[in-house]
Amino acid sequence: SNYLSTIPQGPPDAILGIAEAFKTCTDTRKVNVCVGAYRDSTGKPWILPSVRKAEERLLSDAAFNKEYAPIAGDPTYVNLALQFAYGKDANLSNIAGVQSLSGTGACRIGGHFLSKFVPKPAGLTKVPIYIPTPTWGNHIAIFQEAGMDVRRYRYYNSKTNRLDYDGLMEDLNNAPEGSVILLHACAHNPTGCDPTHEQWHSISELIHSKSHHVFFDSAYQGFASGDAEADAFALRYFVEQGHNIVLAQSFAKNFGLYGERTGTLSVVCSTPEEREAVLSQLKLIIRPMYSSPPVHGASIVKIVLSDDELTSEYYNNCEEMAHRIRAMREKLVEVLKEVGSTHDWSHVTEQIGMFAFTGMSSDMCDQLTSEYAIYLTRDGRISLAGLNDGNIEYVAKAIHAVTD
Ligand code: PLP
Repeated sequence: SNYLSTIPQGPPDAILGIAEAFKTCTDTRKVNVCVGAYRDSTGKPWILPSVRKAEERLLSDAAFNKEYAPIAGDPTYVNLALQFAYGKDANLSNIAGVQSLSGTGACRIGGHFLSKFVPKPAGLTKVPIYIPTPTWGNHIAIFQEAGMDVRRYRYYNSKTNRLDYDGLMEDLNNAPEGSVILLHACAHNPTGCDPTHEQWHSISELIHSKSHHVFFDSAYQGFASGDAEADAFALRYFVEQGHNIVLAQSFAKNFGLYGERTGTLSVVCSTPEEREAVLSQLKLIIRPMYSSPPVHGASIVKIVLSDDELTSEYYNNCEEMAHRIRAMREKLVEVLKEVGSTHDWSHVTEQIGMFAFTGMSSDMCDQLTSEYAIYLTRDGRISLAGLNDGNIEYVAKAIHAVTD
């Protein structure tokens, strides 16, 4: 029998489905504020000049070839990437790091590793991982597929449009001892709302007192504030405080390497012996999954981060993206006021990173799409990267119309 004929149609991906709908839309006014990718001031994708130069160098290098990378990836790239995340002075002899298929692949390997090796709290058949509500939608499926018991903790209060700090602390406190807690390292997606330094201190203390394990997802280092060092505050603080964190690191946004699938997964161990054992297990997870990672994006990051001049140019490029996004954030709120909106939009200016989490209802979002051809996710999240001087007034007027 033809089993294929019985397979049901699966639902489209929530975000990529909207991107498809945008593509087929014929309305000339259409605006895409759904994409989680940087666009320049003319609405075009941008290859960072430092990345372009590194790529040219790579192609003109006579030693360049297309050989397989090792299972754990290019070790020079991995070390440079880990220094980018953990700091120049980090003790890499205790950190087990592997190259990954960007942030998504890192989460998947990390989830698999945790599900295999974290002791299950009494009475549970799977290792629980607590994920914020809301979060990047893919987290749920990734960690379920990795064999974990996906649970949620409160993160955002949609009445105040601010962090639900008390809810977060209560939920982490009530989680069974030894749970895994997923934290966004900076520029929380989709809310753009991060804990303050003082709140991070208390979260770290609570996690210690409950013997929880920390999984940091870092998809926006440098892209959030324009300063990669500042954006690494939380994860470096946790390492300083002695947490054996697991870190998923993506170079998609901050290097603009989206389609190159460049990232790392790392585990902070306590000794070089632990590091060796962990690394060996990560390789055992990777080998039957995809054997070895792609080389192109990692080679670019390696060239940029091993050359002082290119590194400093890169930091400027990254700051330029963050700056344009910040400018759009401020301008959106300014223009909303100019076109007559009397709502309090201060949460939008306080947020950080690629998105504005507006607080609009799903009905309002639907209306923006159906009446104004403005494409966004139904949680009211707007990608500021999709805004520019040519469309910001149109978008602000439409938001005012549907929220008035
Ligand atoms: N984690 C978060 C919070 C994200 O927002 C994203 C991308 O949107 C990712 C991870 C992974 O992205 P990628 O797999 O392209 O690195």
